[in-house]
Amino acid sequence: MDFLRPQSLDEALAAKARRPDAVPIAGGTDVMVELNFDRRRPTALLDLGGVTELSGWSAAGPRIRLGATVPYTRVISELREVLPALATASRTVGSVQIRNRGTVGGNLGSASPAGDTHPVLLVSGAEVEAASVRGTRRIPAEEFYLGVKRNALAEDELITAVHLPVATGPQQFAKVGTRNAMVIAVCSFALALSEGRFRAAIGSAAPTPLRAYEAEEFLAAELSWAEPRPLNPAVQRRFGELVAAAAAPIDDVRGTAAYRRHALSVLARRTLGWVWRDHLDGKGRDGACA
Ligand SMILES: Cc1cc2nc3c(=O)[nH]c(=O)nc-3n(C[C@H](O)[C@H](O)[C@H](O)COP(=O)(O)OP(=O)(O)OC[C@H]3O[C@@H](n4cnc5c(N)ncnc54)[C@H](O)[C@@H]3O)c2cc1C
Repeated sequence: MDFLRPQSLDEALAAKARRPDAVPIAGGTDVMVELNFDRRRPTALLDLGGVTELSGWSAAGPRIRLGATVPYTRVISELREVLPALATASRTVGSVQIRNRGTVGGNLGSASPAGDTHPVLLVSGAEVEAASVRGTRRIPAEEFYLGVKRNALAEDELITAVHLPVATGPQQFAKVGTRNAMVIAVCSFALALSEGRFRAAIGSAAPTPLRAYEAEEFLAAELSWAEPRPLNPAVQRRFGELVAAAAAPIDDVRGTAAYRRHALSVLARRTLGWVWRDHLDGKGRDGACA
């Protein structure tokens, strides 16, 4: 196996153009598992560790550009004020060791339906920046996930960054696992309220992460953002039902389809309660909810 170690983004893109068979490795927390269990035998690895252009984040006005190899630990410690749901999701990933190595870019590269950042990227209106020697493009998160562990990257492309708007309202992420920590999601859910608009997204309960559009429209019709009133439990219940109906789960080792739907309805009810409470309290309107 060849081990390619580019020292700049240009070198990395040139290497990927020359060797599209080379598997990028960032934190390695997915790649090394696949190698160790002999699930994958790449002819080459493309180590992104020396590419400093990928390892930082920057703010440009109301948007954050998060480099592909920024580890979860930094998302949690440096970006929780401006990207609260991404920080919450990052806190639920694996263990300290995994969070020190693992990256949002790697989560996107794997495109596992169970990846914790995906529902958050969907409700945030994130865009994935992909680059190759042919140029750079931005892919809306909703167009990025094509199927189980399949994404929209071309074979010569690398993820260079993720662009996310700074939160302008409350956001929540919640996850159910078979134990309390160090666990892949049985199902997960993210909800964001921004400028009067709800966005809801489901993880680990369909071949790809997905938006729950009907549930979003229901909230838009039922709740007044400008003149908020306390939540009616019937609205919470119906929202939960619509979220559960939007999922397309399967039975697998982590849970049954029926349990996933039930758990999703519970997560949806809960997160709506939290988001609406924060909205009533006026929290998160200036991107300062943690
Ligand atoms: C013990 C353990 C616990 C875990 N717990 C969780 C969890 O709770 N939640 C969760 O979501 N995940 C979890 N994971 C999975 C993993 O940690 C995450 O998916 C993580 O985000 C992967 O990031 P990475 O940088 O380590 O990716 P890597 O392993 O380096 O790469 C992952 C994939 O993305 C590709 N890739 C990486 N960077 C790029 C790039 N810049 N451009 C193009 N392709 C790229 C790689 O080729 C590979 O296919 C866990 C893994 C382990 C081993």
